[in-house]
Amino acid sequence: MASLPVMTVLILSGLLSLTGLRPSRASTPPENSIGHLTRELLASARDPTFSDWLKRTRRSIHERPELAFQELNTSQLIRRELAILGLEHSWPVARTGVVASLGTGLKPFFAFRAEMDALPLQELVDWEHKSKHDGKMHACGHDAHVAMLLGAAKLLQERKHELKGTVKFVFQPAEEGQAGAYHVLQEGVLEGVSAMFTLHVDAKLPTGAIASRPGPLLAASARFMARIQGKGDGDAILAASFVIQGLQLLVSREADPLEGRVVSVTFVKAVGDSVDLGGTLRSMTTEGLFYLSERIKEIIELQPVVHGCTAEIDFMYKDRIPYPTTVNDEQMYMLGKMVGESMLGEANVHLSSMCMAADDFGFYSQKMATADFSIGIRNETLGSFHPLHSPHFFLDEQVLPLGAALQAAIAIVHLNDQVSVLQS
Ligand SMILES: [Zn+2]
Ligand SMILES: [Zn+2]
Repeated sequence: MASLPVMTVLILSGLLSLTGLRPSRASTPPENSIGHLTRELLASARDPTFSDWLKRTRRSIHERPELAFQELNTSQLIRRELAILGLEHSWPVARTGVVASLGTGLKPFFAFRAEMDALPLQELVDWEHKSKHDGKMHACGHDAHVAMLLGAAKLLQERKHELKGTVKFVFQPAEEGQAGAYHVLQEGVLEGVSAMFTLHVDAKLPTGAIASRPGPLLAASARFMARIQGKGDGDAILAASFVIQGLQLLVSREADPLEGRVVSVTFVKAVGDSVDLGGTLRSMTTEGLFYLSERIKEIIELQPVVHGCTAEIDFMYKDRIPYPTTVNDEQMYMLGKMVGESMLGEANVHLSSMCMAADDFGFYSQKMATADFSIGIRNETLGSFHPLHSPHFFLDEQVLPLGAALQAAIAIVHLNDQVSVLQS
């Protein structure tokens, strides 16, 4: 998940009404059978041999973090584990990604996504399995996501005869700013997949809890860079100051206050007779993002003319493909909520607020029914309370068996549910 500068993060309280939610379908297995399934899966995942393997896997990835599209060792580890499990897989997908399959080979196709990339950060946590690669760190929990998804694959492999369809496991490169999800979709490996689920660790939630919401969850995001060229006498600096004011007014004067939007200038640099500036734009709707980019282009190109300057803007669409909004499908959300309540207890499944952070999971949201859930890792005793993207980020590894079991249960329940619908 890509985070915003602290000052610009807007946490919007729950604005969407839940009254439109459809009740879960009659074909959903009765609570007692889901309860039986979730208890068994959680017990298997918490078995010491299994949870030790999860920890070892996660720690091994944590020690060797790799940046976007460089995840060669990580994908090698994944392929080795998939080969041990006997799962068919495609590699490379989107340069470094791996997509594995399990089940009947027939529809319905249901997918999970785990990101593989780390961040360009120096880890400041001193512990036994600290990053061995200077300037790189798994500070967004993607090491845990990979371990939890391998764990789910292992649990499902032990129950593959119960699968009424096919599960795809997407180990995706380059979530951090480089739109790995977009590139995975371009390769066509997810043709026919009707639904997708993902988990993201969250240090605001205690270990043992999950959270999400139906509908829009995370913002659409893009970036811009501009150069204002003056003719001397500091005119470019004056023009830049008017441009920045104009950009800051976009949200306060033109946006619906009930719809989250952010325009933030994150750097300004004067070089000779020119000024470079750049920043980020976000919106809770993909249309809102397009509107903001049109207006930002107008302000940056036209305002400097008043001061006798010229300007160019670049949204870097080729290298930094804008991320669409992540929107949770209502039924997929209900599936995660129901399985989560059964496994973790109703009190541990929370309704999240919308958030101005962005994730390339939004690309999948545009193509299929998706749900993105946060899973808690906060444990005051362990010190796992630092936010994502902090060099102090630390993970409560108790989350690993929970995430593995939760995803395995969701796959089984979803495929049962889909097949019942097809047969009815
Ligand atoms: Zn991130
Ligand atoms: Zn992330």
